[in-house]
Amino acid sequence: THFGFETVAEALKEQRVKNVFSSVASSYDSMNDFMSLGIHRLWKDHFVRSLNPGRHPLSTPPSTSTSSPNHQPGWNILDIAGGTGDIAFRMLDHASTTNHDAHTRVTVADINPSMLLEGRKRSLTTPYAHSPRLDFIEANAEDLHMIPSASIDLYTVAFGIRNFTHKDVALREAFRVLKPGGVFACLEFSKVNNPLFDAVYQRWSFGAIPLIGQMVAGDRDSYQYLVESIARFPSQAEFRGMIEDAGFLVPGKGWEDLTGGIAAVHRGVKP
Ligand code: SAM
Repeated sequence: THFGFETVAEALKEQRVKNVFSSVASSYDSMNDFMSLGIHRLWKDHFVRSLNPGRHPLSTPPSTSTSSPNHQPGWNILDIAGGTGDIAFRMLDHASTTNHDAHTRVTVADINPSMLLEGRKRSLTTPYAHSPRLDFIEANAEDLHMIPSASIDLYTVAFGIRNFTHKDVALREAFRVLKPGGVFACLEFSKVNNPLFDAVYQRWSFGAIPLIGQMVAGDRDSYQYLVESIARFPSQAEFRGMIEDAGFLVPGKGWEDLTGGIAAVHRGVKP
């Protein structure tokens, strides 16, 4: 607005998100396990397996074909809001073990230095410590100026996009950095389909999760924020529309529900 109210509110939201993730960074992994009863690990495994990183060829667009002079073997993956590296390590493991691909590389980008620090620490216990296949950068998903246009084969964002202030801007940035034929893939909390299951789920989210946050991490407010941000995130169909609005082609129905819609995987392809 003329009075800058929107800008102030947006800056406050960005700061709030930063504070939340700074305060949960060290307990983030164990809290994820508590909150989802360990299911987030299965969702992440499924997400990565279904993307099949390192498979040859990724697609057959001219820019990524092996005849291109700029062709580099392996996939160039950008994991946005990659936090503690959960998705990145799985991507590299899958490329190496399932597809025998030693070239696929992942850049983990996150707005929060504390989360990146946890990711770097964790990477020391993986085979990718100090490997050129794994990189960490501090970046806001809404402004990826350090990433050249049309340079990425696969853009992933897991449990991150609901925290972005301008999701449409982030989706357009995803579109810009992807190569033609490149894939946008998002794993995010979504809307539960069955009303009965939803009632139980809402009680769990709003009742138990802030309480567990308080008991385990001594931080009720951050977990209350996480639960509210999940409730505010658009439905599967609305989010599909946002992906299309950014210019992506959305194959088939456009999403896959996980655990009755508690989470969903959305995909888009850059034409
Ligand atoms: N992807 C990881 C996972 O699945 O475990 C981490 C998800 S964590 C719930 C959300 C992450 O989004 C945090 O690390 C936070 O710092 C990051 N984040 C929030 N807003 C962001 C933005 N605008 N740009 C980049 N990262 C952001």
